[in-house]
Amino acid sequence: MKNMDEYRLVLGLEIHLHLRTKTKMFCRCDADIYEADPNTHVCPTCLGLPGALPVPNSEAVMKAQILGIAFGCKINPDSRFDRKHYSYPDLPKGYQISQYKLPLCEGGTVKLNSGFEVVLERIHLEEDTAKSIHEGSKTLVDFNKSGMPLVEIVTTPCFRNIEDAVEFGKRIQEVVRTLEIGDVDMEKGQLRLEANISLRTPEMEERNELPKYKVEIKNINSFRFMEKAVRAEIERQYSLLSKGESVQQENRGFNEVTGKTVSQRNKEQAEDYRYFPEPDIPPMSFDKSYIENLKSKIPVLPHEKYQKYLEMGLAPNEAEFMSYYNNSGYAILLSEIISSGVSAKTAAALIVNKPEFREYTPKEFVAKVKESENKITDKDELMKIISGIIQKNPTAVQDFKNGKSNSVEFILGQVMRETKGKADPQTSRKIITEVFQA
Ligand SMILES: [Zn+2]
Repeated sequence: MKNMDEYRLVLGLEIHLHLRTKTKMFCRCDADIYEADPNTHVCPTCLGLPGALPVPNSEAVMKAQILGIAFGCKINPDSRFDRKHYSYPDLPKGYQISQYKLPLCEGGTVKLNSGFEVVLERIHLEEDTAKSIHEGSKTLVDFNKSGMPLVEIVTTPCFRNIEDAVEFGKRIQEVVRTLEIGDVDMEKGQLRLEANISLRTPEMEERNELPKYKVEIKNINSFRFMEKAVRAEIERQYSLLSKGESVQQENRGFNEVTGKTVSQRNKEQAEDYRYFPEPDIPPMSFDKSYIENLKSKIPVLPHEKYQKYLEMGLAPNEAEFMSYYNNSGYAILLSEIISSGVSAKTAAALIVNKPEFREYTPKEFVAKVKESENKITDKDELMKIISGIIQKNPTAVQDFKNGKSNSVEFILGQVMRETKGKADPQTSRKIITEVFQA
């Protein structure tokens, strides 16, 4: 990347994710669509037929609120759905049911392991659109995805580097999986990102002044792709600004082949969507006891586990490994081993660095640790034992010099016998070879 002394990055993220629910957002269609044949999970509501009435899915509402609580958002006691108008083949109604003025959740902060604090703007719930499939000159539409419950997380333009943005994306995956409210598999399109990118001068940063434009990169479906796309867009904006030109506010897509972003369409302003309250769905209100009850359901989250492991003396990489949702089995193993008197640090280091230890039962694990703790690894002590044995077997050295390399193994066997198997074989073998070669 170019020398960025003159400009600083301003980056905000919009993250869309599918919730794991039994049925779709506003109809009773089965939401398990990922392996299904096209247009098999559809009804008049999610096909957008005239006169079909939407009924909100309370499971989806609750799961979006749980996510908001986990991210420290305020849960709005009053919330409602709005219509967001735009025309596209995958949206036959001509509008998407989303949330505008009164989202389910507002504000919130997420502290990353790097120490950086992500400031959220809102979390709201909406319906996903159908999927367009382009075949030659034809476009086909699959409505299975239409009406899937979709959560949108909007951050403030708080990111100053790509690394924190990627860490935040991964944090979302970890939290959603820990809460068991979604699968967030990016390959299945269950988690998609959009990045809003602009550059400003250090002086603007000091005044906390945001640039007058932002460029939105849409349809980011992997973190690697996001990194590449954001870097390419920084380069492009940097070269325009350093020539004294201005950057247009627009949507751009990233072409992985050319490694460049390309213009798609001018970005709509909120007023272009002509939002208004969805007349077919009554406003929602949530009382205190409902919200308190949701709060009590939040389990220990990965970043809280991470902090706990650091306090237990684990190195940052070990703490990170142990707090991954997918590694919760190892976390249980770790807690069982610690209760048998092995230090957390020793146990974690073995789990993280020696995969074979992950397969052990806690009992086997502890036995292996105890065994290695009793080993004689001290070089001086081993040297004393080895010299004694070599003195008793003077021909061994001569055999070695005559090319019989297995005489090392012979002496090692004697060492193991004398120490009842406690000598560390690797260190002993090294010492014997050194003595022979001397
Ligand atoms: Zn349906």
